[in-house]
Amino acid sequence: MSDKPFDFRLVNGLQGDPAVFVLLKRMGEALLFDLGSIENLGHRDMLRVRHVFVSHAHMDHFVGFDRLLRVNVPHRRQLSIFGPDDFIERVRAKLNSYTWNLIEPDQIRFLVHEVRVDGSVWSALLTNTDKFSASASLTDITHHHLVTLRDGSQVAAALMEHKGIMSVSYKLEAPAILKVRTDKLKSLHLKAGPWLGDLQHRVRTGRVQGDIEADGRTFAIEELAHELITQHKGRSLVYLTDLSFSPRNLEALKKAFGQASDGISESSFADEDRSRAVDKAHLTSRQSALIARSLGIQHFHVFHVSGIYGQGPQPVAEEARSFFHDLPGPGPELDREIQIELAKIQS
Ligand SMILES: [Zn+2]
Ligand SMILES: [Zn+2]
Repeated sequence: MSDKPFDFRLVNGLQGDPAVFVLLKRMGEALLFDLGSIENLGHRDMLRVRHVFVSHAHMDHFVGFDRLLRVNVPHRRQLSIFGPDDFIERVRAKLNSYTWNLIEPDQIRFLVHEVRVDGSVWSALLTNTDKFSASASLTDITHHHLVTLRDGSQVAAALMEHKGIMSVSYKLEAPAILKVRTDKLKSLHLKAGPWLGDLQHRVRTGRVQGDIEADGRTFAIEELAHELITQHKGRSLVYLTDLSFSPRNLEALKKAFGQASDGISESSFADEDRSRAVDKAHLTSRQSALIARSLGIQHFHVFHVSGIYGQGPQPVAEEARSFFHDLPGPGPELDREIQIELAKIQS
């Protein structure tokens, strides 16, 4: 097993409905970005999903809710689901569209969170017990930090303009973890104790000067840490879909997400179809590559290629990858390329 904290899969490939299955390997749980058709997701994987992050309620991003619901009805577990403005009412409407006279109280529980335009987050726990009638209340959560998962990963949101509505982009941030080498403990004849926690804390906070008392003996912290502790790097994954290439969106993304290691981005249109992209408030291959570079992304994946490309999604995906390959990382040179692209949109 690689030490990557998560793996992900595009449920419907490069051109089908948006849905990304992310397996959080440290806890065996999964999350979904978007809920397009999820018929291609196996039952076992479906049951691993505990958190769902929906960008917006265009049908190709939300039609999979019914399958999520259906698979979970017998299992009586609470699911958390996040989405944009009006999302609580949309989930309520979906739930109310079925007849529920055969289930037990509290059998269906959806904790719904709504990320509003002003960055505030409202929530409601919708259950069959009260016929899904709970009203929305303001939480102290902000879009900067929606949730911390059991493995310490956090999810943040950025609100993107998408043809007059908001589409939510998300960032999953899995922290670095430290591992103690038990073989080295043994060869140094050291017994684990509270000192090991202290040592890890020093490494985590970068304070490795000086000595430490370990199991009754004194060691230089830096040397002991070098022997005993291996560091598995953190990774972060940005999910970007259904947004226009505008100064406002670019600014909001940078502000909310900073830098990330991995990115999945829509690349709906080819570079030459820029005017279509502007019209539909989507990204071209070049625009998605520019955004990925501006977020410092190293591992770049595209999806949600438009169905107008009868020859399949590969040429557009290939084009996005080659733009990404040729563009520089964050800096004045990249900023110039972004300005040139913005100027082309305005003309
Ligand atoms: Zn879409
Ligand atoms: Zn859309």
